Amino acid sequence: MNIHEYQARELFAKFGVATQPGAVAFTPDEAEAVASKLGGKIVVKAQIHAGGRGKGTFKNGFKGGVHLCDTPAQARDLASQMLGQVLVTHQTGPEGKEVGKVFVGEAVDITKELYFAILLDRATSAPVVIASTEGGVDIESVAEHTPEKIIRVGVNPALGLMPFQSRKIAATLGLTGPLANQAVKLFANLYKLFIDCDCSMVEINPLVITAKGELLALDAKFNFDDNALYRQPAIVAMRDKSEEDPREVAASEYSLNYIGLDGNIACLVNGAGLAMATMDIIQYAGGKPANFLDVGGGASKDQVSAAFRIILGDANVKGILVNIFGGIMDCNIIANGIVEAARETSLSIPLVVRLEGNNVEAGKKTLAESGLALITGDDILDAAQKVVAAVAKAA
Ligand code: GDP
Ligand code: MG
Repeated sequence: MNIHEYQARELFAKFGVATQPGAVAFTPDEAEAVASKLGGKIVVKAQIHAGGRGKGTFKNGFKGGVHLCDTPAQARDLASQMLGQVLVTHQTGPEGKEVGKVFVGEAVDITKELYFAILLDRATSAPVVIASTEGGVDIESVAEHTPEKIIRVGVNPALGLMPFQSRKIAATLGLTGPLANQAVKLFANLYKLFIDCDCSMVEINPLVITAKGELLALDAKFNFDDNALYRQPAIVAMRDKSEEDPREVAASEYSLNYIGLDGNIACLVNGAGLAMATMDIIQYAGGKPANFLDVGGGASKDQVSAAFRIILGDANVKGILVNIFGGIMDCNIIANGIVEAARETSLSIPLVVRLEGNNVEAGKKTLAESGLALITGDDILDAAQKVVAAVAKAA
């Protein structure tokens, strides 16, 4: 799960991570009011779940999702240019994201922009700090062109981020004297936030040195471990469903493990491993999967038909492969779910079904008696080849 920058700033305030004052605004009036309260130079920032806003462009031609201005009236004007408009950045994809709110903050006089992040290193199964003197710009290009400018410091999860490690990182970033002390405190508080909130990533880009000699977090991008959300009600309350893939939102309402992809062959599978294998085999047979979908071991008929509706709601889907190996799963429940959903949605694309295992005979009978025009697959490869061929023929 992701949150907006303004919400991340609320967490910064709670955990003592230094940043500039400001607040979220949903209307131009609110933006003006926040700016009046703050006084001085103002920064107005579009709030979307994607980075690269500064260099982004709105679909109406307005350039940039991050702007500085001098007066509350200008802040109001900037907010009205951004609110309700679609911002395209290198992270949103060409479709962009609609801006529903802006952050209005005190503008900071920046002397240097740094990069600082904590994430989960899958290789060591432990947190790792990534930092660089090359902040503000896109870190991926720093990693590609000047990898020596990126430092990585592994953290022992039992000990946490140690002060000596923070001092070393601060020194590598060129922070000395009072700035080094501020850095050690900021890193420690951010690490505590990372652990306490079950984050999988916290990224501050840029972390800035101001003209007044302060170290401030000026931007924030957070990721949370979805599997830990059950114990993070305050984080879950920050969820903004309008920012998420609507297919994934619908799937989460039915506790389905669904990830949208950009291919055209949808798959409905029980078990994550089998779902991965099914995606591989679709690819092997020359097709492209439209999703990962694991309905789980004990799915109900309602879940199966919900899964089917989500798949069919995706305009890119040109064929469906159902691959069920019923261990705990009763094949007949799957069959009934498919028949119900296919009837509701008047299925018009090829459907290939491979059923095996628990109660398979009853499942096959349900499908055969349904009158649905489906193609039967004998095994996983046969089913994948059949769906790829059927989609090619229909095209
Ligand atoms: P992003 O483009 O989505 O990563 O948004 P950021 O919040 O990182 O803003 C992009 C850039 O705008 C930063 O790297 C800064 O150079 C600039 N910026 C953001 N806030 C301020 C500010 O308060 N003062 C100044 N001078 N520049 C800012
Ligand atoms: Mg940024």
